[in-house]
Amino acid sequence: MNILVLPGDDIGPEITAAAVAVLQRASAVHALGLRFETRDIGMASHRRSGTTLPDSAMEAALAADAVVLGPCGMTDYPPREAGGINVPGTVRKRLDLYANLRPARTRKSLPRAVPGLDCLIARENTEGFYSDRNMFLGSGEFMPTPDLALSVRKITAQASRRIARTAFEYARRRRKSVTAVGKRHVLQLSDGLFIREVETVAKDFPDVAWREMDMDAMAADIYTRPERHDVILITNMFGDILSNAAVAMSGSLGLAAALNAGDRHAVANAGHGSAPDIAGKDVANPVGLILSCAMLLDWLGNRHGRAEFTRAASGIEGAVDATLAEGQRTVDLGGKLGTRAYGAAVAARLEQSADKLATVK
Ligand code: ATP
Repeated sequence: MNILVLPGDDIGPEITAAAVAVLQRASAVHALGLRFETRDIGMASHRRSGTTLPDSAMEAALAADAVVLGPCGMTDYPPREAGGINVPGTVRKRLDLYANLRPARTRKSLPRAVPGLDCLIARENTEGFYSDRNMFLGSGEFMPTPDLALSVRKITAQASRRIARTAFEYARRRRKSVTAVGKRHVLQLSDGLFIREVETVAKDFPDVAWREMDMDAMAADIYTRPERHDVILITNMFGDILSNAAVAMSGSLGLAAALNAGDRHAVANAGHGSAPDIAGKDVANPVGLILSCAMLLDWLGNRHGRAEFTRAASGIEGAVDATLAEGQRTVDLGGKLGTRAYGAAVAARLEQSADKLATVK
């Protein structure tokens, strides 16, 4: 399998190097046969070739079996005419990555975590309230007069159906429960359409229980009764907000994992930003991207029917849990390890687990 690595900006290259080290070790331990190719994107690419996303990198992403994408510092990018292309947005569109999957889980060993949380947020990624996602031409925000600004929210049956299907499929592999979130009583037409499609898809999954919940009720429930929620199926902007709250409840933004997936492509990219304030200091927490890479392996295992990929994904999750429980942590979690040292600790733990398995056999 060919994995394309796009390191990104600010802390991107540091956490990407740590995550790739873990993937390399997982590949060796589980005989996955992963091959890696790295291409510059972001400001590193702009300095050399005048664009943050060269065509060759985009073509490599289309050709790869899967992609690892570090966070991009887009606020520093020059305007589009001067080569500042929104890398995650363009990759998302070209690869049709309609599902943004963001897990959040409490680990007993971590301080500041809210107990009982273990959810996967399945967020629709291609439409909704974000002005860059809901128009063919132009922007979903416009200003008819200097004192009047309007935003359009787009919800389609087709996009609602496919994210619903993804959510129910993941629920089937977890605790078989879906909470579908909108605000149908206020956004009657758009969330009405969303929930109508969820109801239709749910009929194909009689083994999965589901309930509807309003976004405002959910904002309290995720905090007070987190154990009730397994897969949370949600439209774009609500999902963006809820997933940040959920990951903060799990202990640190540095733990935020995310997989952007479609029918044919998937991209691992952490659920946090490029953190320019701590870039280049070897202090960033690579857990988010490492766990995103585990999700990527799980996705590949599922897509290609390769159980060793699924096992490797669980192995990485277990290695992260074990290192954190032992107190091997980065600074944001009260530890002392640098980015590189933490990545090496997870990789070493993968090998130990494999040795133990070999001894038991
Ligand atoms: P964006 O708009 O791209 O989401 P942002 O500036 O809103 O970016 P982040 O870049 O995610 O947000 O940073 C928010 C805070 O969290 C910063 O103080 C940053 O240092 C911290 N942070 C983010 N990611 C990590 C990480 N992996 N390890 C440690 N701290 C992090």
